[in-house]
Amino acid sequence: MIYLDNAATSKVFSEIIQNVKLWSEEFFANPNSIHPDGQKSRRAIEQVRYFFSDYFGCKPEEIIFTSCATESNNTIIKGLAEKFPSKDEILISPIEHKSVLYPVMYLKRKGFKVRFLKIDKSGRIDLDDLRKKLSNKTLFVGVIHVNNETGVIQDIKAVGEICRENGVLFFSDIVQSFGRIDIPFSYIDFFSVSGHKINAPKGIGFLRKTGEIIPLLHGGGQEFGIRSGTENVIGILSIREALGIWLKRKEDFIKRSKKLENILVKQLKEYIPEIKIVSEGYKVPYITTAIFPEVKGQDMVMALGRAGVEVSSGSACSTGSPTPSHVLLSYGFSEEEALRGIRFSFGIETKEEDIIEAVEKTVEIYKKLKKFTGFSL
Ligand code: PLP
Repeated sequence: MIYLDNAATSKVFSEIIQNVKLWSEEFFANPNSIHPDGQKSRRAIEQVRYFFSDYFGCKPEEIIFTSCATESNNTIIKGLAEKFPSKDEILISPIEHKSVLYPVMYLKRKGFKVRFLKIDKSGRIDLDDLRKKLSNKTLFVGVIHVNNETGVIQDIKAVGEICRENGVLFFSDIVQSFGRIDIPFSYIDFFSVSGHKINAPKGIGFLRKTGEIIPLLHGGGQEFGIRSGTENVIGILSIREALGIWLKRKEDFIKRSKKLENILVKQLKEYIPEIKIVSEGYKVPYITTAIFPEVKGQDMVMALGRAGVEVSSGSACSTGSPTPSHVLLSYGFSEEEALRGIRFSFGIETKEEDIIEAVEKTVEIYKKLKKFTGFSL
């Protein structure tokens, strides 16, 4: 299989797989128990927290371990809303991940005003629009760092500076950039991270918070009272190890991804001249979405899967009928075009020959599907 769906999830590093067995034996005890084995687990967690706080340049108690980025995003968004109910306006980009968009829409139903920021032709937030929309009622500004469908990188340093000048909190979902590109951490007040996007197992994430929030989960008072529930010790050790590996390999990865992105885009355009590459400006090279003429993204993804190439379509399918991606619609594509998007996302193991073979199969399948099915909504 050629796996080009790393933005959905990544394979667990073999080093981590080996260590999980050892860690499970060594750190089996509940880190909240005060006996020696419990304290051993506690020390393991606190060492990781210390490592991350040192890496971000923040206090250890600002790092809260969670189960995933969805939980981190919900905790930040709902936690801020409960903490500051008098600030009832939320400013977010229209290209947020659903784990940001949906909790914000939930707050809208509770009476908060939600304002979407404009994006310019390059796919980035219009900073003048942000300045205009800020007010003393703004609870927070939410802007994703790297979009999970298009790979577009937002200028979060500039967004953070504007928020700071105006005394407004800035929150960013950094799931698709963490470990792979440089992030201006000091400009972000609240951010969320997911382990399984950087080759740690699923079920671990964390958030960083600079100020107080009201917890989502109540119970034993773990994680400084912000996230009750016994900590995932093995997950916490895994996400630390995964970041360590990425920090050693990220420059190499980005260099290789640029080369792979060039091959992918050049060849797709050569064989299918009418193809549209979503945003070719400020983007990471490891995520690329292409809109194919006439053929549905879902049909392409299924046929490619059968041919040994795993990619994803930009559209979510929860009830059997695909819905067009809100991200592609925000970029100005029609509903029909948005249903024809295919995302290719590279991982640390993706090689040049994978891309060459993937393009060959993509073109072959595209031509077949175009001939036999055509496009109908
Ligand atoms: N944010 C972004 C940008 C993502 O791509 C994803 C996963 O696809 C998430 C949040 C949710 O992450 P998790 O699966 O850890 O909840």
